[in-house]
Amino acid sequence: MSVALWGSTPGAASTREGIDRRGFVQIITMAAAAIGLGESATASMIEAVAKGAKPSVIWLHFQECTGCTESLLRTSHPGLAELILDLVSLDYHETLLAAAGHQAEKCLKDAMAQNAGKYILVVEGAIPEKDGGIYCMIGGRTAIDILNDVAAKAAAVIAIGSCASWGGIPSAAPNPTGATGAPMILKGKTVVTLPGCPANPYIFLGTALQFVALGKLPELDELGRPKFAYGRTIHEHCPRRAHFDAGRFAHQFGDDGHRQGYCLYKLGCKGPATHANCSTLHFGEMTDAWPIGLGHPCFGCTEQKLAFKVPLHETVDIERPTPPDTYPAVDAPQGRIGAVAAGVAGLAAGAALGAGYRFAKSHDAPKPPAAGDSGGGQS
Ligand code: SF4
Repeated sequence: MSVALWGSTPGAASTREGIDRRGFVQIITMAAAAIGLGESATASMIEAVAKGAKPSVIWLHFQECTGCTESLLRTSHPGLAELILDLVSLDYHETLLAAAGHQAEKCLKDAMAQNAGKYILVVEGAIPEKDGGIYCMIGGRTAIDILNDVAAKAAAVIAIGSCASWGGIPSAAPNPTGATGAPMILKGKTVVTLPGCPANPYIFLGTALQFVALGKLPELDELGRPKFAYGRTIHEHCPRRAHFDAGRFAHQFGDDGHRQGYCLYKLGCKGPATHANCSTLHFGEMTDAWPIGLGHPCFGCTEQKLAFKVPLHETVDIERPTPPDTYPAVDAPQGRIGAVAAGVAGLAAGAALGAGYRFAKSHDAPKPPAAGDSGGGQS
């Protein structure tokens, strides 16, 4: 099954314009490292993808800003967007679909029929329940109806982003449309949730590729989040953690502590209660492209109990206050990733992820500034 998507043409992963064999292997290695897979499993994944064993993906949009799709496609890494389109068979995606109206509806029906029981359903956006779900209708059907229909024939369901995971921004008080997440609609069905505003594309890639290469979903926590990405708090592997433990804090934006790169807890950082891997897997393949790396407190966007509920500058309880065995260096650039910089010794997944990230950096991305450079992310 293949439908016309904007910017997509048929072709093998290793031959698409802008992607050579090395780039292809590199991205898959990063995705495998992100989920903590070893060398042999990574090789299996590369082999499976090279053979064309791409998972069919049907991607639905509901109440959202399309930021997760933008994060997936508007990356700085040359050709990553194209490669993503090669790693999965994106058979229906409303943002990328060239068809419109009845043609688009037919694409969805065809995609479901041709891969019934085998496709991965990705849900982006919240689903409004109030007043029978009339606040989000596509082709005359409510989002609730479409989601139930497409999920019934899916092999796996992934809710990407905070909106699809529990409601996100559309569910913020007073939640006028009764917005909620896919797991709350698909009660009793396993839904992998990848919260984040936006979700990191590598977490999605790692989850989807593990499913196609190894035939199983990653281990999930009680909220449906893959443990490889959401098993630790930001605070446990934050490059500013040494400042927290030493009692060095920024007290307001632009003060001396803020400019020195001190801990942002007193500015309302939600890192101590937020489970995510942003500090080891930055966004857009840009060093320091994550809130704390840019000098802003973590907003807690992966946590339903925090994001869009607890005021931005209100402090949170420290979930696991015990300091880690090792720390990132206090003068290290925020984006300098490694087992030490990650700040948590003995956590193999984090180390593997850091290695994968570093691997990519060393080949294609601009080099991070040397320690002591003014642009090291110490805001
Ligand atoms: Fe990092 Fe925030 Fe923890 Fe400070 S409070 S160490 S900035 S996660």
